[in-house]
Amino acid sequence: MVKFAATGSYIYFDGKMVPEREAKVHILSCAVKYGATVFEGICAYRNKKSGEVNVFRLKEHLDRLQYSMRVMRLEQSYSNDEMEKILLDVLTKNEMRNDSHIRLSAYVLGEGFLDSRGPVALGCLVVNRHEKSLADKTVKAQVSSWRRIDDASMPPRIKCAANYHNGRLATLQARGDGYDEAILLTPSGKVAESAGACIMMVRDGVPMTAPVTDGILESITRASMITLFEKELGKKVQEREIDRSELYAADEIFLCGSGYEVTPVVNVDGMKVGNGGVGPLTQRLYDAYDACTRGQLPAYQNWLKPVWRINAGMAAAGG
Ligand code: PMP
Repeated sequence: MVKFAATGSYIYFDGKMVPEREAKVHILSCAVKYGATVFEGICAYRNKKSGEVNVFRLKEHLDRLQYSMRVMRLEQSYSNDEMEKILLDVLTKNEMRNDSHIRLSAYVLGEGFLDSRGPVALGCLVVNRHEKSLADKTVKAQVSSWRRIDDASMPPRIKCAANYHNGRLATLQARGDGYDEAILLTPSGKVAESAGACIMMVRDGVPMTAPVTDGILESITRASMITLFEKELGKKVQEREIDRSELYAADEIFLCGSGYEVTPVVNVDGMKVGNGGVGPLTQRLYDAYDACTRGQLPAYQNWLKPVWRINAGMAAAGG
């Protein structure tokens, strides 16, 4: 029997909250046969002073899930309000009072052929997140010989499970060659993203990142960081095509995503990035992001959805 990593004890699965071991999908479902699944990875953070827990940019994640369903032509049978309630119920049922990572999936549970659009079920599970310093998160990256999927064949801007086979091939190649992460280029050779995060780099004090038309997921963290760079660090981020060789000239590079948060890339293709450590702007940006996700920056309160509110006695879900 295959074992799965321990999650919160309860998973929302196909209409009800069930113990983890009961959340099973049939082998003949389109979700298994064709990877007909779209999903979101979402984080919730605890404010260390007040103990409050908030989900970060929940609305944006739910909107993107709806968009992924629309593009993949899954039946859109759930409203954002329904999905939000399910997600908050999973957090409270599992008593998640610390940092956590939530996976919300919509999948074709029914049996059928390639044209099946439903029935679509939702699944939602949560796992604990463990905080790490940037110095403990540094990675070495390899520019992959695999190219990023293209919008004309499999749209990378949506979060469809089948898309991840592209990043999987690149990651396996990178790990096999002694690196931690892969960087994928577009079919025309421009920097796209890594298997599970977008890429930002700093050169001569200017932050830059690939445009959303260069084979990337329309990342919510990337958008948040563009705002934080500008509003908190006074730096405008250039969204423009990036050549591979610019990676070798960068002073700082980092990966960004809900799960990766800020992950410094200290080496590309065996060449040191900057001085080979965590760059100063990378650190400052992460500090701003951390304060923002934990509800310490009042200007970004509207990015947070409360799960537990301390002065409501920690008992009330949803604020
Ligand atoms: N690119 C890919 C391929 C990803 O899987 C992710 C993680 N969702 C990201 C970028 C970052 O997206 P987000 O900031 O919305 O988590």
